[in-house]
Parts: sequence; structure tokens; C-alpha cells
Amino acid sequence: MSAVLIRILTCDGLAGGEICGEEFGGDTGFLPLVTLRRRAREAGWRRRRRGRDLCPACVKDGAR
Ligand SMILES: [Zn+2]
Repeated sequence: MSAVLIRILTCDGLAGGEICGEEFGGDTGFLPLVTLRRRAREAGWRRRRRGRDLCPACVKDGAR
């Protein structure tokens, strides 16, 4: 029996009035959340207030 735990960041940006939903991560294997967030930051993701995450495209578009 095995279990796989993955962590994924989902973009909370609004693109044309709809949630973007872009995802980051999803690699198999346990990844500490801080590590995932650091990798996301290095990939251009940004974290906004109230825990909202934005993918590089939404950051570029100035989504809030
Ligand atoms: Zn996005």
C-alpha cells in the first residue's frame, strides 16, 4: 500500500472575470510547502494578501 502526497499552488487571479486556475507543482513526493512556495516565487509566482497566489501571467497582467 502506498500513498502519494502532492502539493499544488493554484492561481487565484482573475482572467476575463474567471478564475485563472493555473497550477504550479504537482510533483510526486512530499515537498514542504515553504519549498514549493520558494520554487513558485523563483518561477515568477507572487503571493498576495489573504493568501491569494498569482501565476506569472496574472502578475504580468497586474491582476489583483
Ligand atoms: Zn493566473
